[in-house]
Amino acid sequence: MGRRRRLGMVAAGMAVAASLQLAPTALADHIKPGYNPGQVNPDVTQRWASPSPDNRHWQSAARCTGGEQAGTRNLLQFLNYHWGRGENWGIYNCRLPSLHSEGRAVDFHLDVSDPTDKAAGDSISAFFRRSDSGGARWAMARRFGIQEIIWNCRIWTAARAPEGWRLYSVCDPNSSSYSSSRTAQHKDHVHIGQNWQGANRATTAWTGYHYCYQCPTAQLAVGAVGVLGDPGISEEMIDPAADAETDVLNETVTGDPVE
Ligand SMILES: [Zn+2]
Repeated sequence: MGRRRRLGMVAAGMAVAASLQLAPTALADHIKPGYNPGQVNPDVTQRWASPSPDNRHWQSAARCTGGEQAGTRNLLQFLNYHWGRGENWGIYNCRLPSLHSEGRAVDFHLDVSDPTDKAAGDSISAFFRRSDSGGARWAMARRFGIQEIIWNCRIWTAARAPEGWRLYSVCDPNSSSYSSSRTAQHKDHVHIGQNWQGANRATTAWTGYHYCYQCPTAQLAVGAVGVLGDPGISEEMIDPAADAETDVLNETVTGDPVE
């Protein structure tokens, strides 16, 4: 599908598609992804505020919530909008301890045996681990409230972020978790799980707020209107030194999450 046609389809049919597949709430409609993955919600007034709600939380699932979360629906919209490849394999599924039980993970069908699919999956998984232009590590994961990504036998979690991509234990023949299933190995879909901040759209990817640690004091008042030359979220000015302060994990994670 051509770019022009795709964009037209999105502009004209986002609400229709959403009503058919995503069952959006009214609030979901204000999410307007930008024209590249680095831009989200560009029409929202930029405001300075502190402290930032973006964290590197990792939160396990504890119950079945009965449905999907708004932020996770928006995450799926973001994938559909920006990559033009892949399809929804579902968000909610009551099968603890999976995050799907709380409706805050999306399975996005792409198959590594298809080169175009694999490229899209590689791109998606790389994007959500990106730093921002200020050098804040895992900035996109923080902004979208992403706590784990599993794709093609690799896993990244916010809890063990400094280790980068790791071999997913399901793919390790020496692991008790080993499975030969391509789905279990995540070779036919990307799994992206959110913490509750992301699932509740409290992080900056969804609010459109920009958080500036180095701005003049007057601009730090919550809700004060600021000006950014580029509303893209890659242009945030987050002080890398603030990283450690925002890394709050709710538990020590041992072993890989079963998704
Ligand atoms: Zn999944």
